[in-house]
Amino acid sequence: MAMGRKLIAGNWKMNGLKTEGVVLARAVAERLASAGPIPVDLLVCPPATLIWPVTEAVAGTGLAVGGQDCHPQVSGAHTGDISAAMLAEAGCGYVIVGHSERRQNHGETDALIATKAAAAHAAGLVAIICVGETDAERDRGEAGTVVERQLAGSIPASATATNTVIAYEPVWAIGTGRTATPADVAQIHALIRETLVRRLDSGAAVRILYGGSVKPSNARELMAVPDVDGALVGGASLKADEFWGIVTSCP
Ligand code: PEP
Repeated sequence: MAMGRKLIAGNWKMNGLKTEGVVLARAVAERLASAGPIPVDLLVCPPATLIWPVTEAVAGTGLAVGGQDCHPQVSGAHTGDISAAMLAEAGCGYVIVGHSERRQNHGETDALIATKAAAAHAAGLVAIICVGETDAERDRGEAGTVVERQLAGSIPASATATNTVIAYEPVWAIGTGRTATPADVAQIHALIRETLVRRLDSGAAVRILYGGSVKPSNARELMAVPDVDGALVGGASLKADEFWGIVTSCP
């Protein structure tokens, strides 16, 4: 089990224009400032256009900022893409790679995700590598094998406990209001931990997040599961009070 601080990461997805994004980020940072020291690291991942204004708005508050994706190359003829170095320059410390919405909507493969994570590492970013099975795969009893296969293909050789976080996000639980049971989460997180320990020298210390309809009402139970080192939060990260409710549910 990774010892230490939990990470609660908000994935804003394609939501928010400048004013509301800055207001939301400031509201989270203000709650963090008034809470005093807490054993939780906090991260928000706004859409790319909001990274500059959000990093400026929360500078010095302890609230980290991340990207939602990056390109494997540093620069070049890649219209519409953004490199890890660009995210780092804009003030990001993290980047999500391999989110299921990118795997599904953009046909991203494990091999591509590994190159994105390696690019993130080269730029000094922490890569949050997402894995998780679909409903049909779970129904066929393949959740574990799918996650193991995704881990095997998506984690680059440069990964360590300091530059990599794994997010287990069952696809059927994302944005649906359905969450995995604590027993299901415990089983898959234990499997991920075993895989990380086999694969990396520092595998025991890699943080493993759970994601999929995490809300204040279920966070206490989920964050208490062994080897759950935090949460990747979509919908509930768009409201400061809900996001903060998840933070304060961490044991
Ligand atoms: C996500 O998209 O990473 C996610 C977990 O979304 P939600 O919390 O809305 O299910």
